[in-house]
Amino acid sequence: MISKIITINTIEMLNEYVLTEECKNHLNCSASVFVQVFSAVRDPCWMMAIESTLRESMPGGVIVGATTMGEIAVGRLLINTTVISFAFLEKTKIMGFLVNGDDGNEIDLGTNFAKKIERSCRGIAGIMLLATPFTMDVSVFLNGFSAARSGRYPVFGGGAGDYEAEQEPLIALNGKCTSKGVLAVVFMGNDIQIDMHTYLGWQPLSKEMVITETDGLWVKKIDDEPAYEVFHRYLDIQNDEDFFLNVLEFPLLLKRNGILYAKVPMRVNEEKAIKFIAELKEGEKVCIGYGNPSVMIEKANDIQNRIQAFKPEAIFLYSCICRRYLLQSEVDLETRPFESIAPTSGFYTYGEIYSQGHYVMLLNATMVAVSMKERNGNKLIKKQEKRIEKPKLLDPFSSQHSQIISRLVNFIRVVTEELEQANAEARRLAERDYLTQAYNRMKAHAFIKNEIERCDRYDHVFSIIMLDMDFFKKVNDTFGHNLGDEILIHLVNLLSREIRTVDMLSRWGGEEFLIIMPKTDSDGAKITAERIRIVIEQTQFTRGLTQTCSFGVTAYKKGESIESMIDRVDNALYEAKLRGRNCVVTK
Ligand code: GH3
Ligand code: MG
Ligand code: MG
Repeated sequence: MISKIITINTIEMLNEYVLTEECKNHLNCSASVFVQVFSAVRDPCWMMAIESTLRESMPGGVIVGATTMGEIAVGRLLINTTVISFAFLEKTKIMGFLVNGDDGNEIDLGTNFAKKIERSCRGIAGIMLLATPFTMDVSVFLNGFSAARSGRYPVFGGGAGDYEAEQEPLIALNGKCTSKGVLAVVFMGNDIQIDMHTYLGWQPLSKEMVITETDGLWVKKIDDEPAYEVFHRYLDIQNDEDFFLNVLEFPLLLKRNGILYAKVPMRVNEEKAIKFIAELKEGEKVCIGYGNPSVMIEKANDIQNRIQAFKPEAIFLYSCICRRYLLQSEVDLETRPFESIAPTSGFYTYGEIYSQGHYVMLLNATMVAVSMKERNGNKLIKKQEKRIEKPKLLDPFSSQHSQIISRLVNFIRVVTEELEQANAEARRLAERDYLTQAYNRMKAHAFIKNEIERCDRYDHVFSIIMLDMDFFKKVNDTFGHNLGDEILIHLVNLLSREIRTVDMLSRWGGEEFLIIMPKTDSDGAKITAERIRIVIEQTQFTRGLTQTCSFGVTAYKKGESIESMIDRVDNALYEAKLRGRNCVVTK
């Protein structure tokens, strides 16, 4: 396999290359040609003109195109050009497929696409996908695609973009162009080897928040607040035509199966919900993140070392547009070293496609680096092996921008972490009893209020148990207050062990405790109380002392207030005392 990258601004420039002896020689020795056109120009006529020019000299070639938010050629960012990347494949067969996004729902489209590809191709070694995430739900498409594919071959690629962010990017295959669809190029046979990597380099900035309401790709609420308000408050981002460009560098970060993912916001609706390029689920914990250039460059170097060991013949990069925005004039620091390993081309995307095991995902904010080589290829003249060199900066101040960002991101991250720790500690102190560490009465009150709301809404039931130490004054009087304290702590440990994790134990007063039991009726609570009563009775407290407790039990009656429920359980406890203590009374 040999790779050649050219940059053109006119069709004449393309003609010039295809007519060279070099190009003709490569074509003569190739089983197939894979051509990728990465274009700044969002004009189907331009794409078609390129295709027909190429078609004349390489009739059997697979020619794909995508509009971009920046082209990558020879490891550098180019803007407002068209990059054409040729891969002359000596032995490997390739085939192209295109599906139009208007032809059905995304899940079915993805399913049928994978089935069609697997029916038509033998010995699939890998698939490159180009898609239009702005006009269709590519995540859902990929879910269908993942479920239907039987192989574990690598799948990679990117979402087409456009410079004006007008949301009409194009993809093209062999002369067909669409602004809503997915195309695939399938690599077949044993001769092609594909090695791919992805990395992020983004770090959490904000405190942790929870996605509380979603609808498809729309996130309606974060921490019960309209999603847009969160971005507006923290980042002062306005809901105007530049929303996407302004918010791009601040994706939401979340962990799934221990891996950090970024999700980039796209647009806001009247309800202040935000549509994301890839889906987020209700209940997921997220932070607003920001890219740390030094982490990005470090990870890039690590991956470049691994790719170097693979000895590829071509490298394709699908890098999120937000990396370009973040790194600005230093963006080549990340991409340039790839070129010293093998000819490197690609583009800045609206979402990167990457497979992990069976699943093919639409990633955001990442770099996907794909290396390829053919086994036993010898007819084509190989480039000499090169060594990675760290890019040398001519101007020592030229990486100041990214260094400052790195330091600020780090600073904010550390301050946020410290604040979060302090907040967590303050929250703990505010809701716990100092002596026993059981929840305090205020927290218990809030818990009951919440239970009442849930019961009224979902027709559940819940119960409470109130217990009080019998003749505890005597313990204090006889053995001193310190020993009394020890017994209280011992009792709380004992009670914590005896209740379920969903139950809540609080210290209601001096030697009086309240247990709240969600989804439990009075019979269930009574059985628990009786069991606990016996355990206490049989326990040896400090210095071998024994101790008993009296119990009141009651269940919530729909529509009643907290006060009436507490009054009833208090009465039950009072009656237990009257009946001679060390017993359970249910009301
Ligand atoms: P009864 O069976 O009627 O409940 O008798 P009692 O002695 O337990 O009830 P009373 O209400 O007369 O006394 C409660 C005692 O609990 C009074 C107080 O000394 C003790 N007490 C309350 N809070 C604490 C505490 O934090 N530490 C200690 N050591 N004792 C406490
Ligand atoms: Mg008592
Ligand atoms: Mg008492």
